[in-house]
Amino acid sequence: ESLRRLSIAMLMDSTTATAELGWTVYPWEEVSGYDEHMNTIRTYQVCNVFDSNQNNWVRTKYIRRRGAQRIHVEMKFSVRDCSSIPNVPGSCKETFNLYYYESDSDTATRTSPAWMENPWIKVDTIAADESFSQVDLGGRVMKINTEVRSFGPVSKNGFYLAFQDYGGCMSLIAVRVFYRKCPRIITNGALFQETLSGAESTSLVAARGVCIPNAEEVDVPIKLYCNGDGEWMVPIGRCMCKAGNEAVENGTVCRACPSGFFKPTQGDESCMQCPINSRTTSEGAINCICRNGYYRTDSDPLQMPCTTVPSAPQTVISSVNETSVMLEWMPPRDSGGREDVVYNIICKSCGGGRGGCTRCGDNVQFLPRQLGLTKSRVYISDLLAHTQYTFEVQAVNGVSDQSPYSPQYASVNITTNQAAPSTVSIMHQVSRTVDSITLSWSQPDQPNGVILDYELQYYEKDQSEYNSTTIRSQTNTAVIRGLKSGSIYVFQVRARTVAGFGRYSGKLYFQTMTEEEYNTSIQEKLPLIIGSAAAGLVFLIALVVIIIVCNRRGFDRGDSEYTDKLQHYTSGHMSPGMKIYIDPFTYEDPNEAVREFAKEIDISCVKIEQVIGAGEFGEVCSGNLKLPGKREMFVAIKTLKSGYTEKQRRDFLSEASIMGQFDHPNVIHLEGVVTKSSPVMIITEFMENGSLDTFLRQNDGQFTVIQLVGMLRGIASGMKYLADMNYVHRDLAARNILVNSNLVCKVSDFGLSRFLEDDTSDPTYTSALGGKIPIRWTAPEAIQYRKFTSASDVWSYGIVMWEVMSYGERPYWDMTNQDVINAIEQDYRLPPPMDCPNALHQLMLDCWQKDRNNRPKFSQIVNNLDKMIRNPNTLKAMTPLSSGVHLPLLDRSIPDFSTFSTVDEWLDAIKMGQYKENFANSDFSTFDVVSQMTMDDILRIGVTLAGHQKKILNSVQMMRAQMNQIQSVEV
Ligand code: AMP
Repeated sequence: ESLRRLSIAMLMDSTTATAELGWTVYPWEEVSGYDEHMNTIRTYQVCNVFDSNQNNWVRTKYIRRRGAQRIHVEMKFSVRDCSSIPNVPGSCKETFNLYYYESDSDTATRTSPAWMENPWIKVDTIAADESFSQVDLGGRVMKINTEVRSFGPVSKNGFYLAFQDYGGCMSLIAVRVFYRKCPRIITNGALFQETLSGAESTSLVAARGVCIPNAEEVDVPIKLYCNGDGEWMVPIGRCMCKAGNEAVENGTVCRACPSGFFKPTQGDESCMQCPINSRTTSEGAINCICRNGYYRTDSDPLQMPCTTVPSAPQTVISSVNETSVMLEWMPPRDSGGREDVVYNIICKSCGGGRGGCTRCGDNVQFLPRQLGLTKSRVYISDLLAHTQYTFEVQAVNGVSDQSPYSPQYASVNITTNQAAPSTVSIMHQVSRTVDSITLSWSQPDQPNGVILDYELQYYEKDQSEYNSTTIRSQTNTAVIRGLKSGSIYVFQVRARTVAGFGRYSGKLYFQTMTEEEYNTSIQEKLPLIIGSAAAGLVFLIALVVIIIVCNRRGFDRGDSEYTDKLQHYTSGHMSPGMKIYIDPFTYEDPNEAVREFAKEIDISCVKIEQVIGAGEFGEVCSGNLKLPGKREMFVAIKTLKSGYTEKQRRDFLSEASIMGQFDHPNVIHLEGVVTKSSPVMIITEFMENGSLDTFLRQNDGQFTVIQLVGMLRGIASGMKYLADMNYVHRDLAARNILVNSNLVCKVSDFGLSRFLEDDTSDPTYTSALGGKIPIRWTAPEAIQYRKFTSASDVWSYGIVMWEVMSYGERPYWDMTNQDVINAIEQDYRLPPPMDCPNALHQLMLDCWQKDRNNRPKFSQIVNNLDKMIRNPNTLKAMTPLSSGVHLPLLDRSIPDFSTFSTVDEWLDAIKMGQYKENFANSDFSTFDVVSQMTMDDILRIGVTLAGHQKKILNSVQMMRAQMNQIQSVEV
């Protein structure tokens, strides 16, 4: 509607003249008269009807164009009806002509331009709609006609108009000259400046609009068209108020939303009031921020009230059945204003002798699941028998991860009952003769107590089960003698604890050798048996020692590493035959071990290509190996430099005797040795990317977290294999991991020598009593009293994780070895490397548990990493601390802040209670603000002693890390 406002601009108006108009006449006559409203006006008259050949002109003064392209002329006039004039000749006219003449300046004279068409341009012949027949001198009964004509385009500075009478009786009462324009207008959110109409009556002049302040164009540039009548039309596009602004005053102004109101998007809507628990900080808000303690998830609409974390679930009820428990609870009293409350179960087993509680292992089963339960009930099974557990039922919702505090929970303590051990699931044959079979089996997955012994039941396949024989074994192996040759026997085994027998395993069939088989096998083995008599002896002695040790300790679980290993190993392997690593130094003649475990390669099969590194005993080269009947392959060749002593040769080759016992995709593979020619060589598969530490340093920041975790998984898998074989590496470090072209990592470096020698040229290995130790990688018990176990390898693995996640950074940076030892003793641990997911740093911290029994086993580490790879979301949470390289160590002795309800309590716990007032006076009274404190803040509140400053800063950083862990791990 607003577009219909027209506007005109007057160029000349004869009615406003107060004195003579002074137009040039030829020969019209200017007279005063009245218009229809009886206003005095100046008019021009002519009435020469009785003379023929009339040509009477009247010309206006010069009229300036003023930018107009089309000129409109409104004429008011009266014409005498020819027929009402008595005796009028036929030449009488009732019409006149309108002309114009363009000129850049006012140069017309009485005679120029000439009074004729061309130079004048005719606009039209004007006829009266009405003529009149009676002349009244007062003009009162005159019939006044109004006609409008327009012409264009005009382009000179101005023009004249002329009216030509050619024999009429008429009076030109008023002449108005004007042009049309579209007015300045605010419409559709934009301002359009005044725009003149085009040269033709049909032309449309486009005009661009400018959005009003705080409005923006939507989609296309905004435009209007000005038509020949001075009307705006055809709007295109529009401007709308930006987010945070609303249209007021009929859409002509965009006004910022007042405080307490917001508008999230551009558009016509009005500002909305902030939802509950939110507020604005300034006018023109595009959203309202949540009040402290209230949050929004990414998917919560901005109009939705801010919500908070739920309160704890109510009244948890437990019902225990042997080693399982059903937990049920009531929903939290306060859902935090949300409908997405779910529950997580934290399982801790308590009272394991030391009084503390530890997180339950991976084997505990939760039905339907452990985290994200939507119903308020869970069934937990596979717990240990006779064990105290604490279950925490956490209530979390969509905003829990934004709260700096751990979720609220209700807990319940239960004690499981006695239960018999679960079934032995894997049994296999170790060896057999004509009259005996040696079997071994796995420990039950759920021993549910200390296994006292196993009962093995067997009978000949063709006989009845009632004729079965049972024997007892205190280990998980047994030799069954007195069997018939070439017969199939059925075997079943079950475990016994104080709670009684578990169920029998499924039936398995094994056959004794026939005499024939026996004879052929003897013939085949004869040379080997003679050759390896010593080895066999050592192995047997080792086994006997193991068994004696086990017996002496009465199967005291945890203390008997050998039994642990034996059982661990057999439970993990399906392949028949018990394989345990044999230390080549237990051989009287270590050459024997080399012959036993490493294949001799003829030097003619080896082609050395280039030197790629320096090993302890000589150069390391790359080259090709072409064994008869096999494809040529790329290999690494370690050589023993000439001039070696017999001891050096033995030590050099010991690595091959060790490596040769292993066969796993994540353990470097030995192809063989060259000992019969010089130089002596060890030939292994070739690892294109060399050692892991250098490789990572050369590719700093180049891998995804998943790629890094994949590498770690490989290393853990190789280490699990080695641990299962009872092999303790003692020098697990990134420098001793090799990487191939597919980024597969393999554990390498099985040399024993460095632990035995006293050469201190390499600073990584610190000489201690009886050998050298890589301090930064080694568990404290191994440093202190040489307790090297797979658990100390797990510690080293944690350091490798740290090396990998920091792309080859040196553990503990430039700290001295002694400082590292002291720091570890005081419970300091390495902080997460930059961009290291919390879950991985938590795993590192688990590997660095002081008590080696609390460290995870390699099998658990592999499972854990597999889970992360399957659920990459668990790798998203990072500690924001991890921004610099030289972070202080994390103090593991600092208590978890979340166990305290006030900052004062926390200060007491870190023994900094004397600063309570300093904290309170400076408003550091919530964990939220304390966790953000910097050294400057600590100084500012008046902590002047350097030691205290450090203690508080460390504790604050720990708090921050714990907050992040709570967010990522528990939710
Ligand atoms: P080592 O004596 O085992 O520490 O080996 C010395 C260096 O030789 C290593 O750091 C590697 O860079 C390189 N190297 C050793 N074994 C291999 C292999 N199998 N493939 C590629 N490079 C190797």
